[in-house]
Amino acid sequence: MLRTTLLAAARSRTCRTLVECAPVTRGLVAKYVAGSTLESALPAVERLTADRLVTLDHLGEDTRDAGQAQDTVDAYSRLLAELDRAGLAERAEVSVKLSAVGQFLPGDGEKIALENARRICEAAAAAGTTVTLDMEDHTTVDSTLGILTELRTDFPWVGAVLQAYLHRTQADCRDLSGAGSRVRLCKGAYDEPASVAYRDKAEVDRSYVRCLRVLMAGQGYPMVASHDPRLVSIAGALAESGGRGPGDYEHQMLYGIRENEQRRIAEQGRRMRVYVPYGDEWYGYFMRRLAERPANVAFFARSLLTNG
Ligand SMILES: Cc1cc2nc3c(=O)[nH]c(=O)nc-3n(C[C@H](O)[C@H](O)[C@H](O)COP(=O)(O)OP(=O)(O)OC[C@H]3O[C@@H](n4cnc5c(N)ncnc54)[C@H](O)[C@@H]3O)c2cc1C
Repeated sequence: MLRTTLLAAARSRTCRTLVECAPVTRGLVAKYVAGSTLESALPAVERLTADRLVTLDHLGEDTRDAGQAQDTVDAYSRLLAELDRAGLAERAEVSVKLSAVGQFLPGDGEKIALENARRICEAAAAAGTTVTLDMEDHTTVDSTLGILTELRTDFPWVGAVLQAYLHRTQADCRDLSGAGSRVRLCKGAYDEPASVAYRDKAEVDRSYVRCLRVLMAGQGYPMVASHDPRLVSIAGALAESGGRGPGDYEHQMLYGIRENEQRRIAEQGRRMRVYVPYGDEWYGYFMRRLAERPANVAFFARSLLTNG
């Protein structure tokens, strides 16, 4: 119920103004977002890449404005050039939301998003790194996987995200388990109806394990995006029993979450990649992080009430 309310608030203009203006928000946002500009986020990337890998997200989503979609492409091009210049491209890639580069624009949205994503892939290729397409709500999955297929013709290293809470995902894992395919498996962060998604946590977890089995048994490169200790250990066991070495899959976690566990996994010689968001369009991302953890919400609500 609380999760549903927060995820609805993530799409509300009024709530956005309220949350963005609350004095308490800044400190909490800083826990999950590395900086409001590329320059302010780079020190975190430098620190993290000492023992981990990184994927950077220039925050933004759901744009209905072609100019804003262009600005996002320019921001990614600048980011990729900077990673190259700073010698970070070997350890840092980028994550892109297609809705930030035009997927929802009226008329030719999908075509525009494909062309914009292609420009980001060209910049990534020039820098010597890779791109992963984030997955948004269930209405975008077919479109996103279609764009993935197009992009992979020229850039076979483009990765995708699949969400274990969707009923369709085990089949999508099978389709994307071939050689060269990079798939990030996560539980899923949106509020989806029971007609398309498991809504019970235990069911989502069981689906995650089924999907993981498919990916680990396949020929591709599984990216295990979860902070859930049980799933992290199942992933390790499945990789080992399937004969995968430490370079044949990776763990992924979000910036600011379970940092000690991130370091522990890296110290064991396993690949650990941190998803690092930056930019001033943090509202939707931040609200999804609040929704994931009731303790965050209680803390945030208490601070709103006491600090105004
Ligand atoms: C690298 C990465 C990329 C992702 N990309 C996408 C994407 O493209 N599309 C999408 O829908 N979702 C994405 N997600 C989010 C994902 O779907 C989940 O919502 C999120 O990871 C929480 O699920 P969990 O597997 O960590 O398990 P949970 O059961 O939610 O959490 C397990 C434990 O992790 C800790 N934890 C989890 N979330 C938080 C939090 N917000 N604050 C503090 N502690 C927390 C808690 O200790 C919790 O008990 C991504 C997640 C990661 C790690």
